[in-house]
Amino acid sequence: MPQAVADALVLAAAPLNEQDKLVTLLTAEQGLLKAVAPGAARMKNRFGALLEPFTDGEFHYYWREDRELATLSKGEIRRSFFPVVSAAGNVFYFYFMGEATLRLMQPGHRDTRVYRLLLAVLAARERGLAMDWLLAYYLVWLLRGEGVLFNPRRCSSCGARPLERAWLRSDFRGLLCPACRREERLELGGGELEFIAWTATRAPDQVGEWPGRFAPAALVRALAAMVEHHGEVTLQSRRYLPEFR
Ligand SMILES: [Zn+2]
Repeated sequence: MPQAVADALVLAAAPLNEQDKLVTLLTAEQGLLKAVAPGAARMKNRFGALLEPFTDGEFHYYWREDRELATLSKGEIRRSFFPVVSAAGNVFYFYFMGEATLRLMQPGHRDTRVYRLLLAVLAARERGLAMDWLLAYYLVWLLRGEGVLFNPRRCSSCGARPLERAWLRSDFRGLLCPACRREERLELGGGELEFIAWTATRAPDQVGEWPGRFAPAALVRALAAMVEHHGEVTLQSRRYLPEFR
């Protein structure tokens, strides 16, 4: 059977049956990988802490052409983010990032940025950068990486630019200026549009330098709505975030 090794972050791990777990990995080179971890649902197992959410590791696996799921054989932890991910003020934000990634990333996605981006966001939170801004930053880049982010500086109908305020089109594929807007309801202000443009040339650990003074909740809701539209899902984990209450 073909075998391979991948650097990856654990996005999800859940019992598949009494013995095994189903693990979803965000790999560095080849997008999402779903694999069975044999025996991982038992108390004592060879994977230990490797399968905790957002562990960065080196994963060995093999697969068969006629099976959808790969099988993990072993792995090594490179870096555990368990303390930062499981902290009370963080856990639901990272849970949300994981779900958004799982739902939005297309099969066969080969963009290496998302893996590196999520690693950088985890490290930035370890250093104490604001969780809500890191979430907004991550969602912008997740949408950009999937090629579904609008141009934040231009009306998609008449081409007017720059925009002081704008509304998301109902198909989420562009913005409308005040003159072109009809019934659209999801509004973004000038600061929110500026933040989206600003992220294009900034790393996650620069989020603390963003000069905007407003809370990012409305931006997070608009970006989440885009993820849900393009991923054709409702994100279950949003109910745990204060931004959605
Ligand atoms: Zn317009």
